[in-house]
Amino acid sequence: MLQNEVGKCISCGFCESVCPTLPAAGYDLWKGARGRVIMGHELLNAVREGREGNMDISDSFYSCLDCFACLQVCPAGVNAGVVSHLARSLIVGKKIKGNQNPYAEMIVAATMKYMNPLGIPASSDNWAEGLKFDQGSTDVLYTGKMYQLMAYTGGLNRVRDMAGDHVSKLMAGIIANHPSVIRMSASQRDRSFQKQLNNSLRNIVKLLQAAGNHFSYPGPMEPYPGTFLYDLGYLAEFEEYANRVYGFLKEYGAKRIITVDPHTYDLMKHTYPEFVDGFDLEVVFYADLLSGLNISKTDRTVVYHEPCHFVLREDSYSTPLELINRAADTVLAPRNGKRNRCCGGPDELIFPDLSDKVSQERYSELISTGASEIVTACPICLANLSKERKTRDMADLLAEASSL
Ligand code: SF4
Ligand code: SF4
Repeated sequence: MLQNEVGKCISCGFCESVCPTLPAAGYDLWKGARGRVIMGHELLNAVREGREGNMDISDSFYSCLDCFACLQVCPAGVNAGVVSHLARSLIVGKKIKGNQNPYAEMIVAATMKYMNPLGIPASSDNWAEGLKFDQGSTDVLYTGKMYQLMAYTGGLNRVRDMAGDHVSKLMAGIIANHPSVIRMSASQRDRSFQKQLNNSLRNIVKLLQAAGNHFSYPGPMEPYPGTFLYDLGYLAEFEEYANRVYGFLKEYGAKRIITVDPHTYDLMKHTYPEFVDGFDLEVVFYADLLSGLNISKTDRTVVYHEPCHFVLREDSYSTPLELINRAADTVLAPRNGKRNRCCGGPDELIFPDLSDKVSQERYSELISTGASEIVTACPICLANLSKERKTRDMADLLAEASSL
């Protein structure tokens, strides 16, 4: 599969013009789309010749955001995001010496132990306190803990900043073998942001209920969907993990799951069926269930940052934009739709500096539209674009426009 993907490349370089990590990495070609395809070629040759253990190439692939912007402009139909994913899977599957990423290993170990990548204890997940659900309904709200995690990622990176690069890598190696250590970073969470995120989740519930939906919620024991395991190339672990999550949801009685973020939606809808035998859950995004909502236009002008998983995948998903349009005068960034620019979020735990540069670039582009607020429909985008707190979640805007 990797051979098929890299074999199509004609080395024109068009993909470099849209790859967000290339300028953010100071035009280090190996951290750009074409460099990753060339590196994919080189990795295959090295594996064939048995010299892969002498290579130091993993940063090229691990720094890819999997945004798929490159695919949209490639005349040969190459997806450097897929190349990066396949290369990471090869590195992990063959355990290629010297190329394991310590942060990836740390995340995988914590996810397998705690069913979420940062070891967040269920006791600290209290966003739904006081809300009423229709327990027993086979429609199940599945947050996948994505909103909840975002208050913790900044804290982990602050610990890394304080420790420095060398010590951080050593710590990541220790956590990979003793995942409980990751819980120390929980005290560094951003409590004010956590309040904002919890409020967005509560607004999602209120919106769904105001639109006439009835659903249950499994509570703080609900597991994270395993996105990182898949994205980082740990496919054997992902398969085991996805089956655990599916078992949890089935045991809970779910027939249809209502997801609240684009990553979980995409993963559960498109990837789970490949890894879970007999996967039979219907997967929807909560915006699909808001047609009965009474929305009045506010006097705001907002710019919508489109999540890559909604607009740079094969099927564009535009329901969030339609809803936001009903709630406020809406503009789009200079790069939007199939030319969308990623927020940098997927790199936040592995390459925080690179992620920050990508997000700064996107933030400036969004603000340049003159809109007073940025609105997005993804907690990862929200966390990465929350500079000066000018960014908010679609659910908060819709709640305001529906007087909830
Ligand atoms: S745009 Fe496509 S063909 Fe051109 S260098 Fe990039 S991957 Fe290769
Ligand atoms: S998927 Fe995104 S980050 Fe990765 S190579 Fe393509 S454009 Fe660059």
